[in-house]
Amino acid sequence: MKIDPLLVEKPWGGSWLGKHYGSSSKIGEAWLLSTLPEGQARADGRALSEVVGSLPFVVKIIDAADPLSVQVHPNDEWAARLENSRGKTECWLILDAKPGAGVYMGLRDGVSGEQFAATLIEGRSVEDLVQFYPVQRGDFITVPAGTIHAIGGGVTLLEVQQASGITYRLWDWGRPGRELHIDKGLQVASYARKFSFEPRILDSTAPRELLKHSDFHCYYNESHGEGWFIDLETYEVYRAASSHSSRFLFVR
Ligand SMILES: [Zn+2]
Repeated sequence: MKIDPLLVEKPWGGSWLGKHYGSSSKIGEAWLLSTLPEGQARADGRALSEVVGSLPFVVKIIDAADPLSVQVHPNDEWAARLENSRGKTECWLILDAKPGAGVYMGLRDGVSGEQFAATLIEGRSVEDLVQFYPVQRGDFITVPAGTIHAIGGGVTLLEVQQASGITYRLWDWGRPGRELHIDKGLQVASYARKFSFEPRILDSTAPRELLKHSDFHCYYNESHGEGWFIDLETYEVYRAASSHSSRFLFVR
């Protein structure tokens, strides 16, 4: 089965994905595995859901020249209540980062949820309120639903997430044109620091479990039963173990 990603242009998109897939240069996302109605990968030319049914997770490469919005996703309970959907916990494997590039997660020490909310409601920048973490290739980060977060400019990463399209955009860095969802976002935000950050896992090829979530399990260089292999050199997706995969993620 040959899996072709869905390529999505984004205002913040970089040039790496365009080069990798021989397409236009503003591609921000490549959806390697998705059966979401709003966007599917293709399997032998057909919509992936026609071939494998619906998957509870989505795998994307995100290539950000500029920062993504500061955003939050609901957990399963909130998503069911507000959107009749599942929630969105996500995890990131950093593939490339320009010097000084990083991600934002949670609030800085000493910043309260009230202060963050008031700043958003006044329409002011929250850049100084969210915590910045520099990243390097190989860092693995888990972002539980409810975590305030943003991917910074100059970062390319592989994301595994629950199959949900629900994003509440809180601050778009003053860029015009995209709707914000401050009311719902503040409703579902959780300020407890539940995210995790494991540096440079690609420095070792030792097999390991990365994340076990109720909707998906994610492993590095090991496989368990039926699932999907993402080759970490070519970014091709396989249904069965492949001799091409010297380093891979396994998701099921
Ligand atoms: Zn997100």
